Order: sequence, then C-alpha cells, then structure tokens
Amino acid sequence: MNDQVSGLRPPTPARGDLPATRHCLRCRTAFMSEGFGERICKRCKAQTSWKSAIPSGDGGSRRRSSR
Ligand SMILES: [Zn+2]
Repeated sequence: MNDQVSGLRPPTPARGDLPATRHCLRCRTAFMSEGFGERICKRCKAQTSWKSAIPSGDGGSRRRSSR
C-alpha cells in the first residue's frame, strides 16, 4: 500500500518565520503572512489596534516638561 499521496504537498512545518498564506483570525481571510507572528491580515490590523493600542493625539496624561 502506498500511503504517500502524490500531488499533495506536505503541511508546512511552522518552524521559524516563514512567509506563508495563512487565514486571518478575525475575518478568516487568506492573507500573506510575513512571519510567524502574523496571524491577522493587515486589513484587520489597520482597522483595530489589537496589539499596540496607543491612541495618538489625546496627550493629556503625559505632560511635556519644559526645561
Ligand atoms: Zn482579517
């Protein structure tokens, strides 16, 4: 018996930062992942700041100390 499936590519071993087509965890859309840490498409990333939620503009908490 030949257990090998010809024509079918073996699953890419997630071992390192290899660019591959992954599915976004948000919209489930296949996108080109640049690295291992890329789990969300750029579109969703741009829409919602899930990683670095640093609101720019309203600088009230941090005061600028004038010399
Ligand atoms: Zn997405």
